[in-house]
Formats: sequence, C-alpha cells, structure tokens
Amino acid sequence: MSLGIPNLSALIREIESVIPYTDKSLYLVDINQFGTLNDILGHIYGDLVLESFVLRLKQAFPEGAFIARVSGDVFGIIGPRIEFSELQNYFRAPIDVSGGVQQISVSIGCLDLDDESLSGSDYLINANIALKRAKSDGLGKSVRYNPSIGLQTRERIKLLQELKSAFTHEKMFLMYQPQVMLNGGAPLGFEALMRWKTGEGQFISPSDFIPLAEQGGLIVPMGTWILRMALHTLSEIHKAGYPDLQMAINVSAIQLRNPDFLSILKQALADTKVNPHRVELEITESVAVLGVEQVVRLFLQIKAMGVSIAIDDFGTGYSSLSSIDRWPADRLKIDSAFVSRIDKHKPGGRIVDLVIPLGQKLGMKVLAEGIETVEQADHLKKLGCLEGQGYLYGRPMVYEDALQWLRKSKS
Ligand code: C2E
Ligand code: CA
Ligand code: CA
Repeated sequence: MSLGIPNLSALIREIESVIPYTDKSLYLVDINQFGTLNDILGHIYGDLVLESFVLRLKQAFPEGAFIARVSGDVFGIIGPRIEFSELQNYFRAPIDVSGGVQQISVSIGCLDLDDESLSGSDYLINANIALKRAKSDGLGKSVRYNPSIGLQTRERIKLLQELKSAFTHEKMFLMYQPQVMLNGGAPLGFEALMRWKTGEGQFISPSDFIPLAEQGGLIVPMGTWILRMALHTLSEIHKAGYPDLQMAINVSAIQLRNPDFLSILKQALADTKVNPHRVELEITESVAVLGVEQVVRLFLQIKAMGVSIAIDDFGTGYSSLSSIDRWPADRLKIDSAFVSRIDKHKPGGRIVDLVIPLGQKLGMKVLAEGIETVEQADHLKKLGCLEGQGYLYGRPMVYEDALQWLRKSKS
C-alpha cells in the first residue's frame, strides 16, 4: 500500500543533498511486532495502523523533517537532533485506528549526518546497525550509532565467514565429557561438546559460536555433522568394550524446527549402526517456542526411535512448569549455575534443593552439571540426585583421552 510519502531511493538522494549538515540526524524508526499485529488482525487493519503512524511521525518530528518509508514498517527521517526520551514519549500514547486505539512501541536507530566521506547508502547501513542493536535491546529502545557498534557488527560478520570456512574445511571437532553415577563414580557415558580452533590458534567457545551459527543459517548442516560424528564415536566406544555407555548430543531448537530433523536422525542411526537406546538428545527449554503440542509430538517421535531426551540447562529458561510437565522427557539436567552456588552460600544457593525434588516429581532422572568440588557432590547426593557431570569427574576430552579415562575408571 502506498502511504503517499517518499521511498527509500528518495531518502538516499535527500541524505546526499544535506551532508555534511552537522545539525541534522538520520533516524530509522521501526514499529515493534508489526508483523504479528498484521498476521493476527489482518492486512487491512495493518494498513490503517501505518497510515495513522505516519501522522504520529509528523507530530514527533518538527515541520520540515523529511519522512520516508524505507520498507514495510520501517521509516527513515531526516530531522534535527532530538533527545531519545523526548522522541520515544511521542510513541507512548496509543494511535487511533478505525475508531479504536492501538498501542504500539518503536525501536529507533539514529546517527548524525556530519561525515562528508560517507555516501547515502553508507549512512543507511550504519543507521540500520544502530536500529538492529536497539531492537536486540528490547521493545521501545533507541540507539545512536557509534563506530564501536559498527565494528562489533562487522566483527560478527567476519567471524561468521570464518566459522563457515572452518566448517567446510573440517577445522571443527568434538570433545567428550564423562557423565557419571554420583555414588561410586561408574560412567554413564559422555556428552559431546563442539570445539572450534581458529586459523590463528584461538579457541572460540561454543557459547559464542553456536548462537552465531544459529543466526547465520549454519546450525542445521553443522548440527547434522555433530550428530553423525558423535554417533560414530559412540560406536567406537561400544566396540572398544563399553556397550552400555550412552552419548548425549546437544541439539538446538532451530535444528528441531527443521522438518527433516527426524529423517536426519534416523539416517545417522542407520549409518553408524549404534543402539538408539544409548543415544540421548539434550534439548534446552527454548524448544518451548514450538508450542506444547508440537513439542510433545516431536519428543514422542524421537522416543519411538528408542532415543531418549534430556532437558538441558533446567531452571534457566522461561518455560512454564505446566508445559514441561507435559513434555515426555527422560532426564533433567540441573544447570551448573545452581550447582556452583551450593558451597558459596550465595543468593540462590537453595534453588538446587527445590529443583531436584521437582525433577523427581516430574518423573525424570536428574543429572547435575558443573560439579567441581566434593562438597557440591555430597550435597547433591544428600538431595537424592544420582547422576552428575563436571570437572571433578572429568573435563571434556578428545576421543583418545576419553578412552584412556574409561580404562582408568574401570581399574
Ligand atoms: P552445555 O550444554 O550446558 O554444556 C556444558 C558446559 O559446561 C560445557 O561448556 C562444559 O565444558 C562446561 N563444563 C562442564 N563441566 C564443568 C565444570 O565442572 N565447571 C565449569 N565451569 N564448566 C563445566 P562448553 O563446552 O563451552 O559448551 C557451552 C555450551 O555451548 C553448551 O552448554 C551448549 O549449550 C553449547 N554447545 C556445545 N556444543 C554444542 C553442540 O554440539 N551443539 C549445540 N547445539 N550446542 C552446543
Ligand atoms: Ca548440554
Ligand atoms: Ca547445560
């Protein structure tokens, strides 16, 4: 729908005609969750919201400001420098839509038009970087561009390119961390953990590169590789004389959303010929975004193959207990954040006392992560937690060291 205001190319021409105009700034204003509103209330309603929103923009910016539509629900404005708080105030009151009112909030990215060496599209790229940052800060936030956020974004892009190349050139590998019975220390199996050593020999933590792989569309091929590699290692461990040990593999919610996930899993099990009853998928509470019905269906399909499911990082997510109660999972992994507070008498140190009986009541096995001290292990045992994992028992190791560790733990 046309809103009768200038478009993106007109905005770029206008930027180029005013630079360097030290008094003026470029603003990108994005209506938060406009897509959802459009989906739920329909396109006709969405169009009315946009029309009314343009009127609000004209109130927020002084006369003479240049207002253009950059894309569906993003507007570009060239106007004087305005305090963010003052600007956001204009968008607090609901807008009028077809006789009713609609509450909205906006994210704003902004930068000053004072650098002659930049082109109109350079300005837009930087304003967009500021807008993205504002959106990632939450609803109703504003961010002014500065070179350091630009650098961070460019570094992320560079890192993603390096990650892609490392993956295609097989520069990534898995380490295996033992999982044990807390009483007596008998091994249960291993958790596979991904590692990336960059060309410069620097180790990047999976906590940093897994989210990058998720955003960069790399997690599905990478996750498939991890699954196949971990199952291959498991079959080696079984052949080495430990047929009862299990392998736990981390699976991201984005992988699970892929309609091919079940066939990828089935194929990996068939190719490596491992016993599916020795395979566990670790899934975080973030899977809750799929909705409880979908999660239940998916978990049942996975379990029908013989594979078991652990809820990872339990207690750190936001999913409701009533939905977790319905998930047919086999094991809860108590997050290390709760375990590390046990012997420090820190706030939250008693959470673990609540979470372990809760897991048991939900009918699941309970494994505590990140156990580093004997004191922590003793406390967990007293609470009735039977299984654990952590530096106290073994660090993540390459396959050869994991075998060595098994031989030692047998003797
Ligand atoms: P996670 O699944 O919670 O894995 C446990 C993390 O705790 C691992 O970090 C492990 O090395 C670390 N850890 C284990 N024992 C101890 C301990 O006693 N003390 C302390 N301080 N830390 C301990 P890591 O390997 O850096 O992995 C971080 C996260 O990255 C994982 O957390 C997981 O969410 C993700 N990740 C790792 N590998 C994969 C993978 O193959 N696929 C996916 N989707 N995510 C992965
Ligand atoms: Ca895990
Ligand atoms: Ca975990």
